[in-house]
Amino acid sequence: MAKWKLISTIAEEVRTGKVTASDLVEQSLRSIKAQSEYQAIISTMESRAHKRAKEIDEKIARGEDVGRLAGVPFIAKDNFLTYGGKTTAASNILGNFEAPYQATAIEKLEAQGAICVAKANLDAFAHGSGTENSDFMVTKNPHDTSRVPGGSSGGSAAAVALEMAPFALGTDTGGSIRLPASFSGVVGYKPTYGLVSRSGVVAMASSTDVIGPLARSTEDAALVLDVLAGKDPLDSTTIDRDSVPYTEQTGLLKGAKIGVIKEYFDDGLDPGVKKTVQNTIDTLKKAGTDVHEISLPSLPLALACYYVLCPAEVSSNLSRYDGQRYGYTDKKAKNLHESYESSRSTGFGTEAKRRIMIGTYVLSSGYYDAYYKKAQIVRTKLINEFAEAFSKYDFLIGPTAPTTAYKIGSHSNPLDQYLTDIMTVGANLTGIPAISLPVGKVDNLPVGMQIMADQKQDRALLSIAKQIERIL
Ligand code: GLN
Repeated sequence: MAKWKLISTIAEEVRTGKVTASDLVEQSLRSIKAQSEYQAIISTMESRAHKRAKEIDEKIARGEDVGRLAGVPFIAKDNFLTYGGKTTAASNILGNFEAPYQATAIEKLEAQGAICVAKANLDAFAHGSGTENSDFMVTKNPHDTSRVPGGSSGGSAAAVALEMAPFALGTDTGGSIRLPASFSGVVGYKPTYGLVSRSGVVAMASSTDVIGPLARSTEDAALVLDVLAGKDPLDSTTIDRDSVPYTEQTGLLKGAKIGVIKEYFDDGLDPGVKKTVQNTIDTLKKAGTDVHEISLPSLPLALACYYVLCPAEVSSNLSRYDGQRYGYTDKKAKNLHESYESSRSTGFGTEAKRRIMIGTYVLSSGYYDAYYKKAQIVRTKLINEFAEAFSKYDFLIGPTAPTTAYKIGSHSNPLDQYLTDIMTVGANLTGIPAISLPVGKVDNLPVGMQIMADQKQDRALLSIAKQIERIL
């Protein structure tokens, strides 16, 4: 398959008439069809994508401005509401759902001339770490089809690795952009909580959900973030951005103060992953960074904390799927109560049900203090420990995941899947930005290194990641 150029180059070529948006859409759709065996894509939006491409090409012919992402095709995880097809969240309960409006993220990309061509597979409702929990199909890892691509944005990560489009959108509630980026060998960027609007994205755990790009380079990821970032009246948790682009270089790699998170190198880390990340750290030292080990004592509690708070929020967010307002309805039900019960029992998959039960349990009056409240206390401790770390270091680093991509079917015990998130959930619980960069391979499988920065330091984080990418 042909490789895509940098996003800024593609857009420039469209603006100057070197290529047409229609050709790019065609190229992307062809690539999607030719690689259907990976099961990365749930649906394509052919007719809408062609129509938009034609409009863009006509505007260019008339000499009009078509924006910074002129004619650039992209793929959205299927939990983004979009026109031109269905939005399923890879769940049966939304199997036939057509969105009445589009996510702000999609609107912003379209306003700059980008074209959404397809919707990518995910773990249903983004609950998972391997994209095996999709109600429809399992996406395969582009580097080894017997393995998972990572999750929950596995379709998006695989699609980008397979060059189906220059970039894709994902969501990251506990690691779902970074983990598939690590397993599939692409760049995954999780912005500061609130920097990108969540309006029009199927909610998982609202206090940690973020939206971000999966791309082939940090430069592309920074450009997409620059288009997405900013306050949105439709999402009250969004924060203001300043006017400096996220593509701007701020701060040099040389002299940067970097903390290596000790807890991430403890038992359980695959030796190959450990060695690859350590080699990268040695390269950073040679490049003149100021690297030291740092301990965040509460970090080993982060996973347990996440798996109390996340299901609590999930159980609340999924209560809207009652079979009455939208999504699947059991038409055979005899009364309202039976309709609620059977629509939800049939429509939700096993993992969604598991999370509804755990969430309802930890929020129930008898157990609220023992679980939910305790987890919130741990979350505050983590926020304080990260803030303290960032008073000494500009960036914190470690592996993105304890292993490389695992075999399809090998993590059928949900706890094994949950453990995969051990290194990613910290950034979600504390709202900080984090990136996964491909830094090497073990047995031909990609390894990701995670870099984190303090809240709202997205520009500095992208800038340092870009410099690291150059010396690898
Ligand atoms: N793997 C994590 C979970 O299952 C994170 C999912 C996500 O970030 N959407 O909850």
